[in-house]
Parts: sequence; structure tokens; C-alpha cells
Amino acid sequence: MPPTVTRFAPSPTGYLHLGHAYSALFAKRAATDHGGRFLLRIEDIDVSRCRPEYFDAIFEDLAWLGLEWEQPVRRQSGHMADYRAALDALETEDLIYPCFCSRKEIRAEIASSGAAPHINPDGMTGPIYPGTCRNLSADERQTRISSGDAYALRLDMESAKGRVGDLIWRDLDAGKVTATPEVFGDAVLARKDEPTSYHLSVVLDDHSQGITLVTRGEDLRSATHLHRLLQSLLRLDTPDYQFHKLLSGEDGRRFAKRNNSVALRTLREAGSAVADVLAKMRHLAGE
Ligand code: GLU
Repeated sequence: MPPTVTRFAPSPTGYLHLGHAYSALFAKRAATDHGGRFLLRIEDIDVSRCRPEYFDAIFEDLAWLGLEWEQPVRRQSGHMADYRAALDALETEDLIYPCFCSRKEIRAEIASSGAAPHINPDGMTGPIYPGTCRNLSADERQTRISSGDAYALRLDMESAKGRVGDLIWRDLDAGKVTATPEVFGDAVLARKDEPTSYHLSVVLDDHSQGITLVTRGEDLRSATHLHRLLQSLLRLDTPDYQFHKLLSGEDGRRFAKRNNSVALRTLREAGSAVADVLAKMRHLAGE
């Protein structure tokens, strides 16, 4: 059996909080329990929300918790050429297309079709795209691109599904899971405002870093269906997966980066001892 390789992959868009500490320690434990390796990756493709001070704080806060990780740390912003190459490969296979629609146009299109809007299963990426730009002719696409219209790149889900057979992945707790990526519709793989997306970058990075077990919060369980499809289309390795609960405060509300009162940095600056912070985290996790 090759050693287990896990990773913690925070985005420098705010200070890490108790929920991140739980996620990082979960990944670390999953690796070290099996004599494996623990890696860190900074997911900083969203340049409009990432800040250098949050980047530095990730290292300081994780070190304060007593975590150690391997060097070098992978930083997604340094790998844009890899994401571009993957998009080029999908484009060559006719599996992606440019989408010029604004959110407003997508909502209007759905409303005019009379269909009830289906929200993407990740709960973050809005309604399922009705496919408007999938049917543009090559000439129309070229004219709009030449005239400088901004565009995203979407996966042609039906064609993509047609290229692969049944796909499964292994969830360490639930066993074999059959992928149902079609629930995402034509997912965005490169955004208008950034030349990649979370979904595309994460599968390429997990492959490049040799991750054998992805541990992450339950909120990203549904995204794994799409990730499994991308792994197959891009001929990437499929790691095993394990999902952990998302911590909530005593008030039952999920931690958010904008809530600084549970930020590790705030707790540290207020003089909390690491042992107390870890004990609080375990208590909230019901351990
Ligand atoms: N960067 C993501 C986050 O901060 C985690 C990505 C993942 O674990 O796949 O939520």
C-alpha cells in the first residue's frame, strides 16, 4: 500500500477559524495515522478576494496549532498555465464552450422558460445553466469574442457524460459512490473574471500533488461528483475521499470567515492557550 497523502487547502480570503483548525487537523491525522504525508496548498485563484496578510496568517496560525507540513507549499496562482493547458485539452475535444451570459440573463432565461429553477447542488454557484450559449454557431462565438465580450468556459455536460462510462469513487465512510455530475448541468470551468475555477484547479492540483485521500468538509461532498468526471476527462488520478462535519458555534451557527471572534488569530491575541483552543474545537466537534 502506498503511503496516504492528504492536504489542507485553505483560501487566503480571511483568517482561519476553529472550523479550519478542525479541517487541518483532520487531514493531518488521516495522514499520520497511516504513516503518510500531509501537504498544504493555498487556493488563491480568486485574486479579488485573496489578501497577502491572510496568506501569511495561514502559516502563522497553523504553526501555532503545532502543525507541520512539507515544503514547498503549492500555491494555485503559480499554476495558471497548467489550468490553461487542461482547458485547451477539453477544448480540443469539444467539451467546453464560451458562455457570454450574465447572471441576470441566466435568471431571465430560466424565468421565460417557465421551468422551476434548479439550484446547483453545491449551493454556491446559482441556478443550473439553461444552456443558452451551447447552441451558438462557431461564427457567432468568434464575433462576440473578437468584439471583446467577456466569457466564461462551460463544460458541455451531456457530451462529457457521453465520453465516459459509469464513474465511481471511494468514500472512506460510505463506501463506493456512483458519480452523478449531471446534477451540475454545464458547470463553469473558467470564470469570466479568472482563467480557471475551483473545480478545475482542485482536481489538477490533487493529481499533481499525488494526493491519495482528500479530506474536506461535508459542504464539498456534492462537488466531488463533478470532480470525478473531470478526473476521467483529463485522465487524472482519483483519490479516496472522506468528509468531515462542519463545526458550528454554541449558537448553532456555522463559522464564517467574516466572524472574527472565532478566528484563531483573535483567540491567540486574546491570550488563549493552544490546548484550550484545541479542547474547545473538540468539544464543538462532539469528540
Ligand atoms: N479551498 C477550499 C476551502 O477553503 C477547500 C477545497 C477542498 O478541500 O477541496 O473551502
